[in-house]
Amino acid sequence: MPEFLAYIGLGANLGDAPAALRGAVQAMEALPGAQVLQCSALYRSAPVDAAGPDFHNAVVALRSTLAPEELLAALQAIEATAGRERPYRNAPRTLDLDILLCGDLAISTPTLTVPHPRMRERAFVLVPLAEIAPGLVEPAWLDAVRSQHIERLDQAW
Ligand code: ATP
Ligand code: CA
Ligand code: CA
Repeated sequence: MPEFLAYIGLGANLGDAPAALRGAVQAMEALPGAQVLQCSALYRSAPVDAAGPDFHNAVVALRSTLAPEELLAALQAIEATAGRERPYRNAPRTLDLDILLCGDLAISTPTLTVPHPRMRERAFVLVPLAEIAPGLVEPAWLDAVRSQHIERLDQAW
């Protein structure tokens, strides 16, 4: 199986969100053939298109031998373990793991679209992604989301 360098967006705004994000990184690290190569800082952002508490967000680079659909299933299992429920679209959540990028792949299936179709609209994705992979984020994209409030937290996580 070829190896992919995937970028995963992490978010949570219910319960102990930093703990959920820490747990998710450990769970990703434990996936077969996976290694977390880079972790952004922890960020706090106001919800976009949704009500509810502020989010904690981060982005990690994950090297994995799982095929993209298998990686999605593995991430959804990690979300489920963290108590993720989907009562309605954009509902507050204990853990959300999105595949932002998967190497250079462009994927469009009923269950998986990569690059993530809404990543360019979201400061909470672009800012942490630019921190760990500046070459993947165009300055114009960051400019376009400058009005979205996002704060980089100094705490270790
Ligand atoms: P958004 O996708 O706008 O960030 P969300 O994360 O709240 O919204 P979910 O309920 O977590 O949405 O996911 C809905 C579906 O999106 C999943 O069941 C999954 O099949 C699909 N999906 C498509 N592309 C991706 C991707 N790149 N990463 C994660 N899920 C994806
Ligand atoms: Ca999401
Ligand atoms: Ca998701």
